Amino acid sequence: VDVDFAAEPFVSQPKFRESEWDDNVGYFIKKKLRVWCQLPNGQWESGLIQSTSGEKSSVLLSDGSVVKVSIVVLLPANPDILEGVDDLIQLSYLNEPSVLYNLQYRYSHDIIYSKAGPVLIAINPFKDVQLYGNDFVTAYRQKLFDGPHVYGIADSAYNEMMRDEVNQSIIISGESGAGKTETAKIAMQYLAARGGGSNGIECEILQTSRILEAFGNAKTSRNDNSSRFGKLIEIHFSTTGKICGAKIQTFLLEKSRVVQLAPGERSYHIFYQLCAGAPSGLKDRLNLKMASEYNYLNQSGCLAINDVDDASKFHKLMEALNTVRICREDQVHAFEMLVAVLWLGNISFQVDSENHVEVVADEAVTTAASLIGCSAKDLMLALSSHRIRAGKDIVAKRLTLQQAIDTRDALAKFIYASLFDWLVEEINKSLEIGKRRTGRIISILDIYGFESFQRNSFEQFCINYANERLQQHFNRHLFKLEQEKPIGLISLLDEESNFPKATDLTFANKLKQHLNANPCFKGERGGAFSIRHYAGEVLYDAVGFLEKNRDPLHSDTIQLLSSCSCHLPQLFASNMLNRFQKQSVGTKFKVQLFKLMQQLENSTPHFIRCIKPNSKQLPGMYEKDLVLEQLRCCGVLEVVRISRSGYPTRMTHQEFARRYGFLLSEVNACQDPLSVSVAVLHQFDVLPDMYQVGYTKLYFRTGQIGALENARKQV
Ligand code: ATP
Ligand code: MG
Repeated sequence: VDVDFAAEPFVSQPKFRESEWDDNVGYFIKKKLRVWCQLPNGQWESGLIQSTSGEKSSVLLSDGSVVKVSIVVLLPANPDILEGVDDLIQLSYLNEPSVLYNLQYRYSHDIIYSKAGPVLIAINPFKDVQLYGNDFVTAYRQKLFDGPHVYGIADSAYNEMMRDEVNQSIIISGESGAGKTETAKIAMQYLAARGGGSNGIECEILQTSRILEAFGNAKTSRNDNSSRFGKLIEIHFSTTGKICGAKIQTFLLEKSRVVQLAPGERSYHIFYQLCAGAPSGLKDRLNLKMASEYNYLNQSGCLAINDVDDASKFHKLMEALNTVRICREDQVHAFEMLVAVLWLGNISFQVDSENHVEVVADEAVTTAASLIGCSAKDLMLALSSHRIRAGKDIVAKRLTLQQAIDTRDALAKFIYASLFDWLVEEINKSLEIGKRRTGRIISILDIYGFESFQRNSFEQFCINYANERLQQHFNRHLFKLEQEKPIGLISLLDEESNFPKATDLTFANKLKQHLNANPCFKGERGGAFSIRHYAGEVLYDAVGFLEKNRDPLHSDTIQLLSSCSCHLPQLFASNMLNRFQKQSVGTKFKVQLFKLMQQLENSTPHFIRCIKPNSKQLPGMYEKDLVLEQLRCCGVLEVVRISRSGYPTRMTHQEFARRYGFLLSEVNACQDPLSVSVAVLHQFDVLPDMYQVGYTKLYFRTGQIGALENARKQV
């Protein structure tokens, strides 16, 4: 067993500091060691200090030029042998340019995985890298490889589950396009290979991704295959370590995308796949046209994705649906609902002289009605009027144009979200865990990363709230930090949502009233407020919060749906129930997150931080500022700093003896590596408090290896 220096004392408030340089600058100048030099353009270049006078140094850069800079823009660089180390904690100097350079060096050699102490860092290659498949699985399984890899993480999770009989979780985070979903699939692939048995359930589990991605992913400006929901997949194992079932839980699907798209983005893949790939018989039966014919799809000016063939994706999807045993009939009924949504979007209205709307009786409304399973008359009525109680009577009130459009869109969103939930339920039935509960689970969490845009609304608030909870879990686990008090915004939102006269502005004022004393909250002008999240301050616009939290569906629409002859009877059931319980969107999400956190707390966590190297989704491009921002955001630098505080450099006795043994004046060939190592340390007068001898490794304080390397070069 190794002496575990990773478990050193925790600091209460981890901060990334640059103090080590102060102690070492003189030494670097004297020994002419490599340094990082920040140029006026902000970029860091490596170089050698040639001379110093006062506060100024002349530095010879690698391109041969010499710059004269203030020593405050110099930082120590790591000795060459530490170039591209597997784990950032091995770096002698842990400043930002060193960390960035180390990751970049690896990335440029297609080594996309690195460790930051206990955390795996995965940098998106945006191209196929030859790191996966059976040979690699075998290599990690047999411990032939131990370089950082998702397989390595999945392997540890599996082994710890088997050894300790404790549930494990693999928590994957990162911003949109960083590679979370791909990473989750790679982890699942490993576990499927490791725990695959004769029942073939592992194939089913792998196919679920295809289905969920078709219905829950879309092209956004950041990612051509962006997940618009959070996902936790539990993989259950038998006592012998074979997969015996799985369960999927999803979080907060972005429903607004069904009816409204930003320019250049798409709605959910399934719509385009269905339009492109449905066989003609099905098309006729559903009265399905081309994607360009539908308002919900054509509004953004983007119908296709580069290098993606929607038709062939549709055929693969059908195979996947068969694999999880969703019967052909139910598949068709699900497609009916999708096409109903598309036709709903084409329903138009006309306004009469008294400003009342009527639904235009055209192909759109008749097709939508027949697909939903109601009469066109009933649908037209539900979309143009609301029945309200007036004293003892019930009277129909005609809607304004905007109200009618909102009612139509709410119906489309409700149908889509219900379909998504139904699908997850069906998949879960198919993957159902056998009767025997084994208590051995590995959960993989793939959840949207922190978001901060120009304009941030309720959706960003929920996403950032989820990330806040996850970060707390991370901090608690790795830094033993106490949980911060929640600011209670969702309760205030619910209170206001229940108040009929409330507006987004009264909500914003309520927040200012109640939260002004909270240091994380700041009321801004008008209906705006900002929250200081762990990853940065975000300015929210309160407009739309109440409506999105209430997510209203008018009672007429509910009645219409409950009387329709939809062929998927369970489709609307659970969602209807939620309506009657009047649970707000915010509260439902909060409760879900609370349960998720409990589940994570009761498992051994393994963290993977995905990093997006550039915002263009291109291979081979490494934007340092973008990477740094992400590393800072997620606390990885603190983890490294804490893990390695004290003795950052580690080498096995063998490695050390091999590298420095020849420096000994008296060499005894049959000496064991440990004795050789100790002899080297004595000969070079390395002070006893500068190193520790472990059972298998030597641990060195900052800078010690650099000094030995120097001696080695001078021989
Ligand atoms: P979002 O939050 O938007 O869902 P994400 O973090 O899940 O984003 P992914 O969809 O996993 O991001 O990755 C985006 C794209 O990056 C993938 O479609 C794929 O092209 C590429 N990619 C990610 N990881 C890898 C990998 N390990 N190897 C090859 N390509 C990858
Ligand atoms: Mg994703």
